[in-house]
This record gives sequence, C-alpha cells and structure tokens, in this order.
Amino acid sequence: MANYILAIDQGTTSSRAIIFDKSGSIISTGQLEHEQIFPKAGWVEHNPKEIWDNTREAIGQALSKANLTRHDIEAVGITNQRETAVVWDKTTGEAIYNAIVWQDTRTQSIVDRLAADGGVERFKPQVGLPLATYFSGTKIVWILENVEGARAKADSGDLIFGTTDTWVLWNLTGGVEGGVHVTDVTNASRTMFMDLETLQWDDDILAAFDVPKSMLPEIKSSSEVYGVASPQSLLRDTPIAGILGDQQAATFGQAAFDQGEAKNTYGTGNFLIFNTDTEIVHSKNGLLTTLGYKLGDAPAHYALEGSIAVTGSLIQWLRDNLGIITNASETEALATSVDDNGGAYFVPAFSGLFAPYWRSDARGALVGLTRYVNKAHIVRAALEATAYQTREVLDAVNADSGVPLTELKVDGGMIANNFLMQFQADILGVPVVRPVVAETTALGAAYAAGLAVGFWSDLDDLRKNWQEDSRWTPNMDDAERERLLRNWKKAVTKTFDWVD
Ligand code: ADP
Repeated sequence: MANYILAIDQGTTSSRAIIFDKSGSIISTGQLEHEQIFPKAGWVEHNPKEIWDNTREAIGQALSKANLTRHDIEAVGITNQRETAVVWDKTTGEAIYNAIVWQDTRTQSIVDRLAADGGVERFKPQVGLPLATYFSGTKIVWILENVEGARAKADSGDLIFGTTDTWVLWNLTGGVEGGVHVTDVTNASRTMFMDLETLQWDDDILAAFDVPKSMLPEIKSSSEVYGVASPQSLLRDTPIAGILGDQQAATFGQAAFDQGEAKNTYGTGNFLIFNTDTEIVHSKNGLLTTLGYKLGDAPAHYALEGSIAVTGSLIQWLRDNLGIITNASETEALATSVDDNGGAYFVPAFSGLFAPYWRSDARGALVGLTRYVNKAHIVRAALEATAYQTREVLDAVNADSGVPLTELKVDGGMIANNFLMQFQADILGVPVVRPVVAETTALGAAYAAGLAVGFWSDLDDLRKNWQEDSRWTPNMDDAERERLLRNWKKAVTKTFDWVD
C-alpha cells in the first residue's frame, strides 16, 4: 500500500491538489486560480478548459513539491464546486459553452416558466429542492436553448453534461479516449433531476425540463473505484475512488458522520450541513434536503442544508468592485478599529437570497447609513452579514430538527478572520470550533477515496483524526444580540422586490 491519498478540490475560485497521509495531515499542495467571467449582470462563468489545465498543473505541483510520484499515491478523490454546469461534445472533448457557475442567475425566466405549472416547490417532494437558478438543471436547459446547434447535437447523443467533478473525472480517465462519464449521489442531488429515494434520474422531471437522459452521467456512490487515470496523466493507473460535492466533502472531512452532527463552511458562500442519517427529512423552514454521502453499497446518508450565496465573495467585492481594501485579511483590523457597525447593515443579496428566504427577486442593500459611517463600519457590516445569515440558517436547522445544536464546527477561507469567528459565536450564542486540519473539503474527498481502497478501514479510523484547534465562546449580552438581529431582519426586508 502506498503512503498517500491525493485529493483534487475543484473549487469556485481555484483548483487544488492536496496530498494527505494516513493521519489526515497535509503533505503538499498545488493550487491555481481561474478567471471569474462576468459577461452581464447576474452572469458568472468559468472556462472549463482552464479548469482542467489548472487541475492537471496543480496535481503536478503537489507531486513535485513533495518529491512524490504516482507510485506514492494509493487513490485519488475528487471534490468540486457543486451545481456549476459544463456541457461538452464527447466526440471532440470541447465544451460547447463556458461553465455556468452556481451563483449565476440568468436562468430566472426558465425557473419562472417551470414554476408557472405548480409553483417553485413543484419537484421538491422528489428532489428536495425548490426551483431556483442555483441548481444545475436550468443551466443545462439554458445551454440547450441558447447555444447554436446544441439541441440537435444533444438529440444525436454527442453532448454530455457534468458538474466539475464529472468534467475532471472524464478528462482524467482519458477524455475522448474512453473517459468515464460518472457523478456521485451528492452532486447528482443538486441538479433537480435525481429522485432522493431511488437515487436515479427521474424521467418525468427530465421530460418537464426537456433534457435528454443520454446527456447525464451515471450516478454512483461517493466511495468506490470509478476508473483509473489515463496513460497521459502523471497519475496514470491510479484509481479514482471518491467523489463528494464540496459541502458534503467538508462535512465528511469534519467527521460529521452521524445523525445530528453538522458543520458550516465559510467560503465564497456559506453552507451549513446537518446530517439526518438515512432519513429523508423535508424542511419546513427553508432548508434543502440533499444527499450527505453514500459509501459503496451501504445505504445513503441524507442531510439538511442551509445555503447562503454570498459571504466571502462580499469581501472579494469590497476589494475588486469598490477597492476599499486590497486584500481579504485587512478586514479583521478594519472591523476591530471601530466599536460597532455604526448602524450600518449590509445584506449581500447579489444572487437573490438563498436559505432560508429563497427570494430570487432580492438584490443587495446597504442600509442604516448616516454621515457618521465610514469605511471601517462598512467592512464590519460586510463581515457581520456572514454571521447574521448563518444565525438565520442555524435557527432553521434547530426548528427542523427540534434539537438545538450546542456548538458549530467551522471551516473554509473566512475562518481565518478572528473578529468574524468571535462575532459569530456571539450572534449564535453557542461556541464555534475549528479543527486542526481546516482543509476539510479536500480531506473529505481523500477520506472517501481512501475508504474505497482500504487505505482507511472504517469511519472510526477517520474520527480519530479530528482534533480541535481553536474555540470561540459567546461573549455578548442577550439584549445586544437581540437588537442586532432585529435590525438585521429589518434590513433583509429592504432587499425584496428589486427585479422588474
Ligand atoms: P472557495 O472554496 O469557495 O473558493 P475558500 O474557502 O478558499 O473559498 O475561501 C475564500 C473566501 O474567503 C474568499 O471569498 C475570501 O474573500 C474570503 N476570505 C479569505 N480570507 C479572509 C479573511 N481573513 N477575512 C475575511 N474573508 C476572508
């Protein structure tokens, strides 16, 4: 048995390759950012070729930095930005359009058209999701309807679809020369097409969307050997043995394997996932029902999810669109340079509002301004927005489960911000806990792959790897917390009805 597992993390902002050892420690990392393409208001695209080239290069970087070769890697796991849709011609290997990213809102008219007959919750009983621009299904429809020749090519069977796990896997296993066209249950559960009980594509929903089944990948578990890397790859012959969508991967990497365990990831957006074991729980409070993980032939685990579209990307927006900071890490010192938010509340409804509101008509608002408010207050309001949004999602989770969470495990790029973590604990009223290995997304994918090939023997083996690094405990009086939350909720109402 080789000593390491390599995880590919195809994220929203970058593609990474991370090599882990048996204790779950990071041995080496390769990482390349890709371009964020904003062709119009509300549109977000990535270039699929750039993503694949970067993935390959990241694998090379990770191996060479640690002086390792494919012989040192027992298996490869893949985790990915979910819902981002790639459609390509399987005879040429070329994408027929850029990847349409999960944050993209261009498909609102397709959502409205589908919702006209039965409302946005029309397919929720089968798929656990409301109709929304977020999920990949309407993005495929947009490509079929708007890219010249796409429909005819799809009907002739040449076009195939995948989220970026599938795109990377297909290319890694040989592309036009026998690439494997597969996804796992967690990614499939974000299309709007997979039945939560049967874990198969639903023919009636596909007919309603007018998407040919021949385009879709085969749905497999999250932990099994899907294929081996092609002769052209630095990893040739290495089995690819795990796939988990990024949020499910982070949950797995946090060892939240059991009923009632949860994690919250602070990245481009925020995603709280709550494990409901093998039970499909339908939310009454604006959460999604989704797959947690499925290990080989064992029964699938389900989850409730609170997705927030804009958290870390608001910090990017302050940097790139307003230019009031030059890098994300400055926000901590700015936020703590003032005593409070100065009365300002920033609701970043840039892609509408996701959980728990699901208001696609919402757009961003910065309210409560007076002549007193300065740049530091605005930066602080932007960080506070992440904490308030998370509080609203946690309230929904607690209401659905009936058993309040007593602490929150966190990960993702934004948890480097100590101000935010303390404020988060204050606003939640429960401790916030960070593990030693904060790269939980890649770790989760490595775990899924390693379990499939016997590198780790079982979940207990993985639980032992989880260790607490830091803990923030609440330190705010109740009246202050209630005041801030009341004002936040008022600010949220100002974002509604902005789309004519
Ligand atoms: P993703 O996996 O979604 O690409 P990451 O988990 O890598 O995202 O997190 C990156 C996000 O975290 C960016 O949106 C960035 O603005 C934000 N971020 C990074 N460092 C900080 C910081 N110190 N304070 C606040 N936000 C931060």
